[in-house]
Amino acid sequence: TELSRLILDRIRDVPDYPQPGVMFKDITPLLADPVAFAAVTRALAGLYEVDKIVGIEARGFILAAPVACQAGAGFVPVRKKGKLPAETLEASYDLEYGSAIIEVHRDAFIPGERVLIVDDVLATGGTARAAVELVREAGAEVVGLAVLMELAFLKGRERLTDVELHALVVV
Ligand code: 5GP
Repeated sequence: TELSRLILDRIRDVPDYPQPGVMFKDITPLLADPVAFAAVTRALAGLYEVDKIVGIEARGFILAAPVACQAGAGFVPVRKKGKLPAETLEASYDLEYGSAIIEVHRDAFIPGERVLIVDDVLATGGTARAAVELVREAGAEVVGLAVLMELAFLKGRERLTDVELHALVVV
C-alpha cells in the first residue's frame, strides 16, 4: 500500500548496530518527514477506540504520544527500571545476554480500561510480551499491540498469540 511504501522508503538499515551482526532499523528518517510521521500516527490512532495508549521507552514514546492525542486517549509510559517516580509494577524479560526490567506506575490505569500498546519495532517479541503482562497486571485490558515494523524472521509474533498484533509493515 501507499502507507507501507511511505514507511519502507524512510527506514534506514544500519549494519552492526548496536552489536556486530545486527542490522538495525533506524526510524529517524521517517520521524523527520512530516507527511510520513503524520500518516503513521494517524494509522495507529485509527486502529481502536481505547482509553489509554501505552508507549514503550524510548522510541515507543515518540509514536505513542501523538497517537494518544489524535485518538483522544491518555498516554502511559512503560519505562526501564528506575525511571518512574511513584510506586511501580515490574516485569522482567530475557535479552540475548542477561535480562531487563520494565515498569509501569501501579495506578496508571483504572481497572478494566482499554489499552493499546505501541512500539516502533517488534523483533524477538520479548519487550512486547513483558509490556502486555505488565499492563494486564496493572488491571487494564490489552485490546491490541501495534508496531510500525515487524521483523518477521525473529518470530516475535509467536510469543504474542494471545494479543491482537498490528504491524504497519512486515519485513
Ligand atoms: P524485542 O524485545 O522484540 O527483541 O525488541 C524490540 C525492542 O527493541 C523495541 O522496543 C525496539 O524499539 C527495539 N529494537 C530491536 N531491534 C530494533 C531495530 O532494528 N530497530 C529499532 N528501531 N528498534 C529495535
